[in-house]
Formats: sequence, structure tokens, C-alpha cells
Amino acid sequence: MINILFTNFCIFVTFLYISGLLSKKYVAGVVTPSITIKINAGMLFGLYGIILMYYSFPIDPQFFVDLRHLAIVVIASYLGWLPSLIAGILIALGRLILFGVSSSAAIAGAGMLLIGIVCGLLSRINWDRLSIMMLMNISSMLVLLCIMLMNIPDHQKVFTVFTQHVIISVLATVVIYMLTEYINTSNKLFLQMKKNAETDYLTSLHNLRQFEQLLSERFLEAQHFSERLGVLVVDIDNFKHINDTYGHAAGDVVLQQLSKVLKDHSRSFDEVSRNGGEEFSVLVPEATIHETAAIAERIRAAVENHAFILDDGTTLRITISIGAAVHPDTIRSKNAKELLEQADRELYRAKGNGRNRVCYASEINDLMLS
Ligand code: GH3
Ligand code: MG
Ligand code: MG
Repeated sequence: MINILFTNFCIFVTFLYISGLLSKKYVAGVVTPSITIKINAGMLFGLYGIILMYYSFPIDPQFFVDLRHLAIVVIASYLGWLPSLIAGILIALGRLILFGVSSSAAIAGAGMLLIGIVCGLLSRINWDRLSIMMLMNISSMLVLLCIMLMNIPDHQKVFTVFTQHVIISVLATVVIYMLTEYINTSNKLFLQMKKNAETDYLTSLHNLRQFEQLLSERFLEAQHFSERLGVLVVDIDNFKHINDTYGHAAGDVVLQQLSKVLKDHSRSFDEVSRNGGEEFSVLVPEATIHETAAIAERIRAAVENHAFILDDGTTLRITISIGAAVHPDTIRSKNAKELLEQADRELYRAKGNGRNRVCYASEINDLMLS
């Protein structure tokens, strides 16, 4: 029996590894898992429970022990009552459909359903995860003990098997807890590091690295689908003066508030980045150079009219200059870098022409090209 339960445990650990990969993709980083995630997780862990039944230890022609209840315990402790109930129902149905319908199978099935309900209810208790998993495990084992005592006349045999089953189940719960916590923490850390690598720490906008990645991806897409891609390069006018007058910390507050104004006044699918210092950019897909210039002008005016409020309540105004270019309206190059360079040249033209303005590259005239 110990060998079989050990096999059960090893199979379950493999399943946990697979679940870790799936949760890295779909669950980690999600603040509140959606109903769909919970339903899918319930079905997955129900399937795990059913597979574990194929590696069981028979204590009677109709009753066999394994660690299937731990599939319910794990999913209940991480995702709550809904997946717990779904996993319980699936394992109960699996017991009946795959292992033959009989009165004892019905009782065993009902037991799994009851375990699904009990673990679902216990998941609402606000304890640390190991304690809650252990409580769920012991409660499940008690349900199983009652069922075995009701249906197997040889109570001596039931107690002998049950003692070993409890010990293995408790040990398995501890190890499974350590593994699931490790997987969960690794997934969270991975996401955190990914976010840190892509996000500007001050404004939470995309950082330069992410901007360059987005620019080359969007540029390739635009070329592939013969669509437009515009770039706005935004730079605060005389920002050094703000730092010199109000201090660097105040400058940081302005940068944070500006990032919000830029996001609020660009379109929902435009990508705003902080490319460094007091320089920002906006990727503007699917707009002509004139539409792009209009978006830039809207942003410029919004910044000019925005009251920036410092921590001490001081209100100040700033202006920005913007350079704009659009592929293929203003540049036919196959290279995203040249589009950016063109927008940069327009920014310097805007600075040279007195600041607080939008300059954009002129449209290429096809007749002139031919
Ligand atoms: P221009 O109109 O020509 O752009 O003038 P400017 O003063 O904005 O440009 P300049 O390049 O001379 O100065 C940029 C300033 O931005 C200098 C630097 O101290 C400041 N700066 C860069 N990064 C940060 C930051 O993270 N926080 C703060 N507070 N200031 C920053
Ligand atoms: Mg500047
Ligand atoms: Mg600058």
C-alpha cells in the first residue's frame, strides 16, 4: 500500500508541476482569479483526482485508497469553494462512470462530493495555508473513514489501512504545500521581475527597453498588414528650470502627473512610454500623419492646460514639445529606427521654433518619388 500511495504522490507532484506552468500563464499576477479560471482549475484538478484513482490500493473489492482527495484540498486552499465543488463532482462522477455503478461506488462517489463541499466551506476560514490544507486533509480523511466503516465489515482492517493512509496523507500534504508554495512564489517573482524589466519605476509607463521592443513589433506588423504606425516623441520644455526652482523631488511628481495626462489624452490602444529623463513617446497605430498630428496637438494642449500640483500644494504649469512621424506617410524606410529618428528631428525643430508646439514630418508625395 505504501508503494502505491508513493506512486500516487509522485503522479500528483507531476500534475502540480503542470499546474504551475499553466498558472504562470493564466493565473499568477491576476489579482482576483476569474470564474472561468476557477471553473477550469476545478475541472483540471477533478481530472487529476480521476487519474489518481487508477493508481489505488484496494482494501476491498469495492473500496480502494489513494490521494485523490488531495486534488480537492489543493485547489480548494488556493482558489476556494467553486473549483473545490467542481473537482468533487467530477471525481464522484469519474468514480461511478469509470469504475462501475454499484451501491458502494455511489457511496464512495457521494463521499468525494461531500469532501468537495467540506473543503469548499473550509476554504473560507482565514488561516495560514498549511493549517487550512491540513484541516481540509484531516476532514477529508474523516469522511473517508466514516464511509469505510459503514461499508466494510472488517473494522480492524479499516483501522489498519486508515492509520497508514492518514500518515502518508499528512506527510504528502506537507510536501505538496511546500511544492505549491514554491511554485506560487516563483511564478509571482517571475512576473514581478518581468514587470520591473519592462516598466519605468517612477511613472509605471513602459520603459525604454519595452518601448524599443514594442516599436519593432508594431513596425513589423504595420509593414506586414500594410497599416500605418506613427511615433510621437515628447519632451518637457525647460524642465531643468522646474528641477532648479522646486527641487528634484518636485520634478519627479511632475513626471508622474505628466505620465497620467499623456495616457488620458492618447487613445486607449496607443502605447505611452517614458524613454528616459523627461522624454516620453507615444506609439500611434492606424492614423495618418494629419490624424497623428491632431492627437499630438490634443496632448500638447492638455498638458498646457493641466495644473500640476506638488506635494506642498504648489500649482505649476509646464509645456511640452512633440515631434511626429508616420510610416509610410512620412517615411518609406523598412527600418523602425529611421521612423524614430525622423520624429526626433521634428522634436528638435519644435524646440528650435520656440517650444510648446507640435512639428511633424511632411507627407511623402508619391508623384515626387516616381
Ligand atoms: P528643453 O526645453 O530644451 O528640453 O530643456 P530642458 O531643461 O527640458 O532640457 P535639458 O535636457 O537641459 O534638461 C533635462 C532635465 O531633466 C535635466 C535633468 O535634471 C532632468 N531630469 C532627467 N531625469 C529626471 C528625473 O528622473 N527626475 C527629475 N526630477 N528630473 C530629471
Ligand atoms: Mg526637455
Ligand atoms: Mg530632454
